[in-house]
Amino acid sequence: VVDVALAGRSYRVRVGAGLLDVAHCEAHAFIEPYGMRSIPIVADANAKRLLGERLQASFRSAGHAIDWYEVTPGEGSKSWAELERLTDWLLTRGITRSDHVFALGGGVVGDLVGFACAILKRGCGFVQLPTTLLAQVDSSVGGKTAINASAGKNLIGAFHQPSLVLADTSCLATLPPREMRAGLAEVFKYGLLGDAEFFARVDESSEAILACDDGVLETTIAHCVGMKARIVAEDERETKDARALLNLGHTFGHALEAETGFGDRLLHGEAVALGMVLAARFSARRDLISLADAENVADALARAGLPTEISALGLDCDGAALADHMRHDKKAGGGTIPFILLRKLGEAYVARDVSLADVAAFMDEQL
Ligand code: NAD
Ligand code: ZN
Repeated sequence: VVDVALAGRSYRVRVGAGLLDVAHCEAHAFIEPYGMRSIPIVADANAKRLLGERLQASFRSAGHAIDWYEVTPGEGSKSWAELERLTDWLLTRGITRSDHVFALGGGVVGDLVGFACAILKRGCGFVQLPTTLLAQVDSSVGGKTAINASAGKNLIGAFHQPSLVLADTSCLATLPPREMRAGLAEVFKYGLLGDAEFFARVDESSEAILACDDGVLETTIAHCVGMKARIVAEDERETKDARALLNLGHTFGHALEAETGFGDRLLHGEAVALGMVLAARFSARRDLISLADAENVADALARAGLPTEISALGLDCDGAALADHMRHDKKAGGGTIPFILLRKLGEAYVARDVSLADVAAFMDEQL
């Protein structure tokens, strides 16, 4: 159990195998008092096919019916069109501000449902049931919700915290290995940005994590959630540097995702893995860490089967084109953008003196 303690309102994140089977119990406080006739569950179609029966059995045992709403898997569902369809559906069901909507799926469904609930009647409740490793360690906790705009990813959104997060590690057994590794990149990120010992532990246990060992998954995910909870409690709206550190590897990664079209060619987590290697090597170039340390980062990620060399992507662009994608970063301004660099392994900081021209030259060497 991890509590996310915020000034306004706190909530609980539970991590463990089998939580979906007792969801009716765990979520009792968000159903019973409101006399909800049936429970609205918005589900990623794959998650519903694989896990829907378990969830349904749990709620049925407590006498609740479920109203399912299916979302087509994929980033394309974080759209205005899907948001409109979903909010219309919830309004037709007669949702009130005190109701809770359940989100079953990965970050796509969590971000979409969270944003829908942020704006429905100026804010109704929601419960996250994350079913991917990435969603369990990152996107389901912290209250960032968003859909995509034609100008870029996650540009339309709101801060809206869930009332409860149930991360059932047994869900991950059916996750495609490539998605599992992509989530593992975000796990490494927590170690690299703030806990060198944890980074080493993840390196040692990456095989057990990828093999879905429930015990290892539980301690690893709970550790990540604990770190995220502390960071979010300190800096809920990313107005200080604390929460920005979670973007380690993401500025480089985002440029690579943009260049490859935000699709299957490069998953978000894979882009983050490459981005962390680039951030480490860029930190070495600025004499913050040693080149050996930077290569240690790359080696650990490579051992977990993650990509570490952007030259292998076969991109048809130069460093300036990649740096240009960074200009659209939410925090970009003038010729510089804040970059998360490493003072040492396990200690990241926000550098404000990085020029995009420097980054472009560095990327040219890496391509
Ligand atoms: P996703 O939601 O697209 O899920 C990945 C794939 O796994 C999908 O095909 C889905 O159908 C499938 N799937 C889900 N659960 C499954 C299961 N248990 N078994 C088998 N297949 C399953 O991707 P994701 O990586 O979870 O999330 C990515 C999204 O999260 C991006 O849109 C990103 O912007 C967002 N994100 C948000 C935050 C935040 O703080 N809000 C943080 C990081 C990422
Ligand atoms: Zn990420």
